[in-house]
Amino acid sequence: MSDEAFDLIVIGGGSGGLASAIRAAKHGANVALVEPRELGGLCVNHGCVPKKAMWYAAQMAEAQYIAHDYGFTDKPGELDWPGFIARRQAYIERIHGSYRQQLDKWNVTLVHATARFIEPHRLAAGERILTAPHIIIATGSSSNRLDKPGFDLGVSSDGFFDLRACPKRTAIVGGGYVAVELAGVLRALGSEVDLYVRNRLMGGFDEEMAYQLGEEMAKHGIVINYECQIDAVHGTPGALVLDCDKGTKPGPYDLLIWAVGRHGNTASLDLSAIGLGTNSDGQIEVDDFQETGIPGVYAVGDVTQRMALTPVAVNAGRKLADRLFGNLPRSKLDYQNIPSVVFSHPPLGTVGMSEQEARSAYGDEVHLYKQTFVPMQLALAHRPMYVRFKLICVGEESRIVGMQMLGPGVDEILQGFAVAVKMGATKGDLDATMAIHPTSAEEMVTMGDRVPG
Ligand code: FAD
Repeated sequence: MSDEAFDLIVIGGGSGGLASAIRAAKHGANVALVEPRELGGLCVNHGCVPKKAMWYAAQMAEAQYIAHDYGFTDKPGELDWPGFIARRQAYIERIHGSYRQQLDKWNVTLVHATARFIEPHRLAAGERILTAPHIIIATGSSSNRLDKPGFDLGVSSDGFFDLRACPKRTAIVGGGYVAVELAGVLRALGSEVDLYVRNRLMGGFDEEMAYQLGEEMAKHGIVINYECQIDAVHGTPGALVLDCDKGTKPGPYDLLIWAVGRHGNTASLDLSAIGLGTNSDGQIEVDDFQETGIPGVYAVGDVTQRMALTPVAVNAGRKLADRLFGNLPRSKLDYQNIPSVVFSHPPLGTVGMSEQEARSAYGDEVHLYKQTFVPMQLALAHRPMYVRFKLICVGEESRIVGMQMLGPGVDEILQGFAVAVKMGATKGDLDATMAIHPTSAEEMVTMGDRVPG
């Protein structure tokens, strides 16, 4: 078997891998992309895309109740779950097709196999041996497994997307973004949802916003059990009972979802063959230029210790390809002030620091501005769900170092304000911007005095 030589091999055809491969090929590089499964990786197949589709369905379910309050006479109905899943999967198929077209257009060689290292610049991919002076690892992450009796009676978030009917009663273990997002969707679509959280909700996020999210979720009917660890699972699928460390045995549940974190997909790569280690979460540590420490071997996306978000994987991959093949030797991703939205119910948006991060970085310089209001659309429906805005500022000029938003609509409001934060906006810049009336977003530019204390 003779070696096949390329300028670049990319391992993994998810968000980061596809972006790196296509950008390098556009610069004229001869690129091989190795992927054993469907193109698109986690985001397209078991992450952002099917999740957002389900979130939209949940929004539609909610909107029916609002419409009824407004005086529309139709009674809220149930989702035709299998019909909607077919529609969702057809959309995902179209995305697969468009990726295949792009790879063909830019002459990227797609190898359907799992890659493993033989030497730093030589890989085995199924029956083929591939070589290149540059190799990008973009193998993403997988859900954690816990060593608990009955663990396999539950499913991960991947299993949620395989559902073909709405479970009547659902238990979700975890308090991170996957747990709160799936809880919101399932509740809105009619499931009774119990959440089991070991510590607090949304660890690492602004504490006040996370607390308020918990309050809103509880109003929505999600039962949140704090400081509760699940030690074992019993029963049969459809009638699951949990062992909680507090001595209770909650259940029976139709569905149990484990949302207990993720680890880097590095086990299949045989990294020991090239002397590359990982941290305890299986992630590869990279520097600002995505360098792993092994010359010519790089890593991008969820397989690294950086923020696990699709646009981060995509942009890290593109910047790296620009550096390697686009004659831009200083090209690298700026990891500061990356905005993100948790598609919970209601959504939570954040850019920059939490209040806690700002206080540990800037101490007494930190001051806050806050706004809480019921959006007009819901006030008309007598559904008092609040929108909460919080600005975290420092210094005499009130430079914004963090912006936190919770409530209906913030998922779309945040992006524009993130531009302002990235540009170094101050509270005065917001004040100088004319409001668009009547909107929820206008409350961000009409905030009053700083919060005392
Ligand atoms: P992936 O997309 O996971 O791609 C890795 C690819 O590598 C996979 O296709 C895998 O098959 C392949 N691979 C693994 N090992 C090998 C090997 N040895 N050889 C060859 N190929 C291999 N992010 C957002 O920005 N917004 C969201 O709303 C959002 N929602 C999410 C919802 C859920 C439920 C989850 C779990 C994640 C969500 N994310 C979201 C995160 C987002 O999906 C990831 O950050 C993103 O997909 C990471 O891209 P990646 O290229 O690093 O890895």
